Amino acid sequence: KAKDAGRNRVQFFDPKMQIAVSARATLVNDLYCAIHYQQFILFYQIQVNHHGQIVGVEALLRWLHPQKGMISPAQFIPLTEETGLIVPIGDWVLDQACRTLALWAKDPATQNLTIAVNISVVQFNKDDFVHKVLNKLKHSGANPKRLKLEITESLLANNIKDVKAKMVDLQQHGITFSIDDFGTGYSSLSYLKQLPINQLKIDQGFVRDIIHSRNDKSIAQAVITLAKSMDLQVIAEGVETNEHRQLLHRMGCNFYQGYLFGKPRKLEELNLLNITNVTKP
Ligand code: C2E
Ligand code: MG
Ligand code: MG
Ligand code: MG
Repeated sequence: KAKDAGRNRVQFFDPKMQIAVSARATLVNDLYCAIHYQQFILFYQIQVNHHGQIVGVEALLRWLHPQKGMISPAQFIPLTEETGLIVPIGDWVLDQACRTLALWAKDPATQNLTIAVNISVVQFNKDDFVHKVLNKLKHSGANPKRLKLEITESLLANNIKDVKAKMVDLQQHGITFSIDDFGTGYSSLSYLKQLPINQLKIDQGFVRDIIHSRNDKSIAQAVITLAKSMDLQVIAEGVETNEHRQLLHRMGCNFYQGYLFGKPRKLEELNLLNITNVTKP
């Protein structure tokens, strides 16, 4: 730091920092272009029940950058939240998801599948969020009961009254809620009984080493027990092996998502037939 270097020395701007700043500016600029040129793609990853039947999918955003190729959301979502760009991008995601739901509604084989959409705190906290979601559903003709919103505990850290009012409004229209990455946030558990939540999602961080880590297993078990006792659904994410699935099943978890059942794919490449090539527990 400049101060540590001493008062009489002139400290120049760290060139590494300069690069970071300009890289960020370039990325922000590229993100504006991405919206304009529609460089986003929505991938879908299937979610199954304990019979291996598909119950729905999670929509996961991808950015097809003209030079850098496919960029994962972890690399650009935080920046879109800081700049507010997540709002138009999130609108696009919801539009796509509603369209897919409307499409699926026409076929008995797909009409009961849900689509879970990740919602950023920034997006949810906009005054017109509820209005927007309802409008998109109405416009597309999608069944609100098939739309699930994945929110995180960070949303529940403050203005819980506002959050509750919006959730109740959406829930009354049939929309359901899942708490993503459950157990990784800092919120108190008391919100669970105050809010219209349908599902807890066990974070993949607890699933990854669940076979060998007693701690991870204990946490996953606590989430499952909590969910059951509050009549909430519980789904595990990051299920990669049969061992994962079998253990989670024995622990009482009924829904799974992960590479074992399928990686996130484009709509056209999604295989919505039942998963049969997996050993049953
Ligand atoms: P998330 O919602 O917790 O999504 C789960 C992540 O785990 C996804 O990463 C998914 O591809 C990955 N995953 C699924 N199964 C497995 C598995 O078996 N093993 C491993 N190692 N990973 C698995 P992805 O697609 O890179 O998304 C990262 C995060 O970006 C998401 O985490 C979500 O928080 C955020 N995100 C994605 N799409 C959107 C979006 O449309 N809007 C917002 N606001 N955030 C999004
Ligand atoms: Mg999610
Ligand atoms: Mg998650
Ligand atoms: Mg996660």
